[in-house]
Amino acid sequence: MLKIAIQSKGRLNEQSLGLLADAGISACSGSRSLISRAKGFPMEILYLRDDDIPQAVAMGVADIGIVGLNEVAEKRQKVDEVMRLGFGSCRISIAVPKAVDYDGTSWLSGRRIATSYPVILDRFLKDNGIDAEIHEIAGSVEIAPAVGMADAIFDIVSSGGTLVQNGLREVEQVFFSEAALIATPGLGEEKTAELEKLKFRLRSILTSRGMKYLLMNLPEAAINEAVALLPGMKSPTLLPLAAPGWYSLHAVVGEEELWEKIEQLKTIGAEDILVLNLENIVR
Ligand code: ATP
Ligand code: MG
Repeated sequence: MLKIAIQSKGRLNEQSLGLLADAGISACSGSRSLISRAKGFPMEILYLRDDDIPQAVAMGVADIGIVGLNEVAEKRQKVDEVMRLGFGSCRISIAVPKAVDYDGTSWLSGRRIATSYPVILDRFLKDNGIDAEIHEIAGSVEIAPAVGMADAIFDIVSSGGTLVQNGLREVEQVFFSEAALIATPGLGEEKTAELEKLKFRLRSILTSRGMKYLLMNLPEAAINEAVALLPGMKSPTLLPLAAPGWYSLHAVVGEEELWEKIEQLKTIGAEDILVLNLENIVR
């Protein structure tokens, strides 16, 4: 039986459980113990701090895990990256006080940089031939320059709001991260087969996220134009309505182009357009 490690609490916990739930896998209710038996898939769920997940998976304490790629890179553990999961996106960047006249990476030479990601920072500095002092601190990295502990910081940024609040400016985007499914290298045959089943479910959910199901009524004369607008998976579905000369057209459309398509469909004569959520796309 597979053992999956997920973050016990924090930014990735809810979306990790949400993704498993969408895949029909639920954690046994109420239990926030270290380990619980899942329902809907032969699997045990291990709740850990995100820092500990790469090592737990590398050691085989857990067979698979959901964790940010930033932690995977920082902890330098040998794990396989199985699949990116499309949530928990962030970047790790260098930021300096707003007033600083930053003119490129050479500014960093001889400076003190505070971070919780010394390994990733060290690699960046070496790659750029910069000799700077790395100050490792566990939390509240963003206040280090204001209190005189550092000249710059290297920290996680998502919207950039925290930087602005602390009078900082992002100057180098170094590492891009998102949550990923990772696995112990060389899982046995049985566990590899179970992992394939899980990957199949997750893939169908990730494919359907961001997609909408569109239905509309369409006059016969507009069919060709509508089909050209909506390629769909193979091509859109067309069903005759009881009213002569009218059809019902069904198609799957990406969320980002949804409104543009709706406007175009209306101009060619589509009526009664319905937009439905898609749960799964199984291919
Ligand atoms: P733990 O107690 O498990 O060690 P933590 O405090 O280290 O938790 P969280 O703040 O919960 O970590 O973040 C977990 C992960 O979420 C990060 O490692 C990163 O991959 C991702 N993440 C996405 N956006 C952000 C953000 N704005 N700030 C911090 N982490 C983010
Ligand atoms: Mg952590």
